[in-house]
Amino acid sequence: MDELVSLCKRRGFVFQSGEVYGGLQGVYDYGPLGVELKNNLKHSWWSAMIFERDDIEGLDAAILSKKEVFKYSGHEDTFSDPLVDCKDCKSRWREDLIVDGKCPGCGSHDLTSPRPFNLMFKTPVGPVENEENFAYLRPETAQHIFTSFKNVQDSTSRQIPFGIAQIGKAFRNEINPRNFIFRLREFEQMELEYFVKPGEDEAALDYWCAERLGWWEKQGVNPSSLEIYNVPNEELAHYSKKTIDIMYRFPHGLEELEGIANRTDFDLGSHTKNQDALSLTSKTMENDESTMRLAVQDLEAKKWYVPFVIEPSAGVDRGVLAILNEAFTVEAIGDGKERTVLKLKPHLSPIKAAVIPLKKNNDELVRLAKEIKQNLQALGLGRVFFENTGNIGKAYRRHDEVGTPMCITVDFDSLENQTVTIRDRDSMEQKIVSISELPEAYIGALK
Ligand code: ATP
Repeated sequence: MDELVSLCKRRGFVFQSGEVYGGLQGVYDYGPLGVELKNNLKHSWWSAMIFERDDIEGLDAAILSKKEVFKYSGHEDTFSDPLVDCKDCKSRWREDLIVDGKCPGCGSHDLTSPRPFNLMFKTPVGPVENEENFAYLRPETAQHIFTSFKNVQDSTSRQIPFGIAQIGKAFRNEINPRNFIFRLREFEQMELEYFVKPGEDEAALDYWCAERLGWWEKQGVNPSSLEIYNVPNEELAHYSKKTIDIMYRFPHGLEELEGIANRTDFDLGSHTKNQDALSLTSKTMENDESTMRLAVQDLEAKKWYVPFVIEPSAGVDRGVLAILNEAFTVEAIGDGKERTVLKLKPHLSPIKAAVIPLKKNNDELVRLAKEIKQNLQALGLGRVFFENTGNIGKAYRRHDEVGTPMCITVDFDSLENQTVTIRDRDSMEQKIVSISELPEAYIGALK
């Protein structure tokens, strides 16, 4: 983990937020390369959910949440972790961190009994601050998918089964944020709510579990680093009938990367205030004072029912950590030397190619290198970097370390013969190609 954290800081992937003031615990900033990697990961998820399928719609709902949403969802009552206080050093711990009844801070046995600590952040809304005037910062993106369910369904004329996908920030006042970007207070989720008829939920859970494992593999996560965990009944969230966690071997241990829950009709049902709505027509439902009736009509049976929902919920930050961990490689390159290389899948690499003029002060080389950069950039496949340091060896090492799949060197032959040298990140092989064939080679390397 230490090596990864150090690489992330040195090369601009992830920084402690507010570091100049000592940092805010459990809150991180993504730097110039981190933001590209994170965007690429999110794009890959979005593409798999929305673009490559025909049964899922997207949503970007608000973070500020009306308190009723999290009251009726059950989070006000149950979204808590057991908190233990040390009476000696006054530190506070999540119960699962207490081993052998000892305070992890000072070793004292003088601890309080565990009590529930609600993890939701509140913020005042409007100029008057009081007990009533507040909103929650959503602790999961899912609830606004449920409260917007009717709007999405009506505006897209979707029939069950269909899904609504969303990527966005979530906030949890974790008692002990830790392990770099693994457990945060501000983080991002990629959540799909896939609505099915009751009775079709169990098969859908298995289907989504297989889909999601396949997707992680395509992101470069070795299947041997993943494990399936069937969450036992006593550990299930209040809304879940069954949950399968996809566990990943993080540097600090085997922990949850993504949870796939069968949330049944719990959420839509809870937001459906009045079950009489189930026997009303759509028209009367619209005219009814309650806008929260979230049932659908079974056209054949001519009756209303609340769909069940399967939720694959993945953490973006945990995904970034897993992917960096998988890609991080230190390998021998002969003569007792080593190199650090991030063997990222090219679609995730923050920089797709670096274009390097052999000499930084040579106008002609620089002009040609910039022209090549612009032409590759125009293909729209991600960031192409103009690397004008004049030190090819150092540039190669830097781009190995940040996972750039190819480096393109522009030298004097380029001016004379219209050729460049392409160097492959993983094999370190170099080959000469004509500039006219470069776009094809570039596109090929990113596949
Ligand atoms: P954990 O048991 O690790 O606290 P959870 O079961 O509470 O996680 P879920 O509510 O299922 O997590 O959230 C779905 C996903 O969101 C998780 O699989 C994880 O990737 C991510 N996630 C949840 N809490 C955090 C957090 N505090 N920091 C970073 N990512 C998180």
